[in-house]
Amino acid sequence: MSTLVCRFAPSPNGYLHLGHAFSAILNARTAERAGGRFLLRLEDIDSARCRPEYERAILEDMAWLGLQAAEPPRRQSAHFADYAAVLDRLEAMGLIYPTFESRGEIARAVVAQEEARGVPARRDPDGAPLYPFSRTSLSDVARAQRRAAGEAFVLRLDMAAALEVVGAAPVWQETQGDDPLGSPAAVQHMDAHAWGDVVLARRDTPTSYHLSVVVDDALQGVTHVIRGADLKAASVVHVLLQRLLGLPSPVYHHHRLILDEAGHKLSKSHGATSLRALRAAGVSAQEIYERLGLAVPSCLKGSQAQHI
Ligand code: GLU
Repeated sequence: MSTLVCRFAPSPNGYLHLGHAFSAILNARTAERAGGRFLLRLEDIDSARCRPEYERAILEDMAWLGLQAAEPPRRQSAHFADYAAVLDRLEAMGLIYPTFESRGEIARAVVAQEEARGVPARRDPDGAPLYPFSRTSLSDVARAQRRAAGEAFVLRLDMAAALEVVGAAPVWQETQGDDPLGSPAAVQHMDAHAWGDVVLARRDTPTSYHLSVVVDDALQGVTHVIRGADLKAASVVHVLLQRLLGLPSPVYHHHRLILDEAGHKLSKSHGATSLRALRAAGVSAQEIYERLGLAVPSCLKGSQAQHI
């Protein structure tokens, strides 16, 4: 059997919280148990929100938790050329098209459609309304001309055309239960249409989360994607892209989310208690493992609070 490779892939757009710690530890533990490799990837394509201080904090938090990646982190912002090459391939297959509406225009069109139809707009699994226009609302020639003229655009996947190329609903392997090494079962019930014509790139950020995660998992030889249950619904888009590009699909494991005392998902943007803040408040790395219900590694047993 080939060596297991897994990765922790945070975005340096805020400080890590307990949920990230759980994910990072589960990835590192799984690699260790299987004699595999644990990688760190910095998903920093959004230059407006990612900052070097958050990246430094990620490295510090990982060291504090006793987690060591097998190689220096892959930083996505250094690899835009890899994503551009894949976009070119999808474009040559006729599967992506540029659109030019601003966010405001899209929001207004959604409201207008809701009023006209008297029903709420269909939303994607993340809760965003589906793109209210279609590929046929403008000719390919007009799209190419507006793009060549330098207008701001986003590149969308033509979902119906993509599913036609693949020919059947994508099927992939997902582990059941709490163990990322547990036996996988086939998943095929998820509907990629639910995502509509997803954005794969923008003029100013020539990639997207969906595209870069798929390209990097393949380039880095990731065999097991271990991440939070909040990303489970995105897997169908990732597997679809893998099929279109002829890439292997890793085994997926979506772990439980760590909730706050009120039962809400932790979030960087809602000021969830960060690992950094817990450390500053005198919480030890050992206590983090204990709070997460994870066995404390011997190197951290008896670790002292470390003031920063
Ligand atoms: N960068 C994503 C996040 O921070 C995780 C990507 C993944 O694990 O697929 O939520």
